[in-house]
Amino acid sequence: MNLAHRLGQLGESATLAVSRKAKELAARGVEVVDLSAGEPDFDSPAVAVEAVRRALAEGKTRYTAAAGLPELRAELARRYGAERGAPWTADQVVVTVGAKAALMELALALVGDGDEVVVPTPYWVSIPAQIRLAGGRPVDVPCSARDAFRLRAEPVLAALTPRTRGVILNSPCNPTGGVLGADDLETVVAACAERGVWVVSDETYERFVFDGEGHASVAAVAARYPDTVILVGSFSKTYAMTGWRLGYLLGPPPVVKAVTAIQSHATSNPTTFAMYGALAAMRDAEGGVVAMIREFEHRRDLVAAALDAMPGVQCRPPAGAFYAFPRVADLYADGCRGSVEMASLLLEKARVAVVPGIAFGNDDHLRISFACSRERLDEGLSRIGEAFAAMG
Ligand code: PMP
Ligand code: GLU
Repeated sequence: MNLAHRLGQLGESATLAVSRKAKELAARGVEVVDLSAGEPDFDSPAVAVEAVRRALAEGKTRYTAAAGLPELRAELARRYGAERGAPWTADQVVVTVGAKAALMELALALVGDGDEVVVPTPYWVSIPAQIRLAGGRPVDVPCSARDAFRLRAEPVLAALTPRTRGVILNSPCNPTGGVLGADDLETVVAACAERGVWVVSDETYERFVFDGEGHASVAAVAARYPDTVILVGSFSKTYAMTGWRLGYLLGPPPVVKAVTAIQSHATSNPTTFAMYGALAAMRDAEGGVVAMIREFEHRRDLVAAALDAMPGVQCRPPAGAFYAFPRVADLYADGCRGSVEMASLLLEKARVAVVPGIAFGNDDHLRISFACSRERLDEGLSRIGEAFAAMG
């Protein structure tokens, strides 16, 4: 079979592949602690579930406009305006099949053959894959573990060349939890605006920022740089709605028009009744969101401390998101020379699923999700500790 040239070396998403393997093992009766999945263990908000029931009962089962439910687009525009002073109107919003589809459609709309796109590393696994699928070239900008993987403006600016078309930011970052401060964001956006380079900001984890640090959003600078910035967001994490497949983007009218055209050919609107649930979540689920994030902050403290105490492992508490990204390279030895072998070993010997760091562009680390109950986390961490001790 001749597959399209654009596939290149494309393989299955590593995050989804590990989760799939863990589920397969569990289905065979193996008791696995799955610390691979990037999805909250909380239930979707009851108000969202109820709103979907009502929408179905009322026959909200037909297509909407390709860009999504008008009321949901209006609510998103209103919220970013009210909370962050963004200038976006409802017709500058596209509701998408997850943030993943928003990012893919943006890549298709903005990246041409050979175009360079600057991507801070470690990156979320699908970002460089999508740039390559669109024909572009991701240019990695390393963030340092010693700096808690903070996203700094300087290395991003140093990576801009005449071939750079865009920059993709992801704060808080999956997999490192590293964040970008408001000053660095301003510096990056201003420099990009001057050069006519777009900035896509993936703010999927916007609510998962710990230690009282505020989230620096492009929504707050969009009024001053309306032609430069595009915000991507998701219902998946904030409202524990991963399987609903709902995300969105807000940005300049020409970008919104192009993405809507792509979406009109690729998926049409996201599932109609699901969007009614998302609207209810935005309006009435805040209490649950706050409680969930408080719980994630507790787990973050437990996980980072437990990992950092293991001989040969270094782990700083992540500033955001819900992943620990410990350095485990000091434990590499014969038969376990990198993160892929280390993750396989943990799955086989300790029955704990984690994602190899190489999937995110750094082979010295593993990604451990703490989006699961404290009890499962404790069990997973003690198994990991035992497996590491047996290696040392
Ligand atoms: N961006 C980041 C950084 C992610 O971790 C994910 C995975 N949840 C997504 C985008 C896509 O999210 P979804 O498609 O579920 O909205
Ligand atoms: N983004 C989540 C993760 O990194 C979900 C899986 C995916 O979409 O890749 O685990």
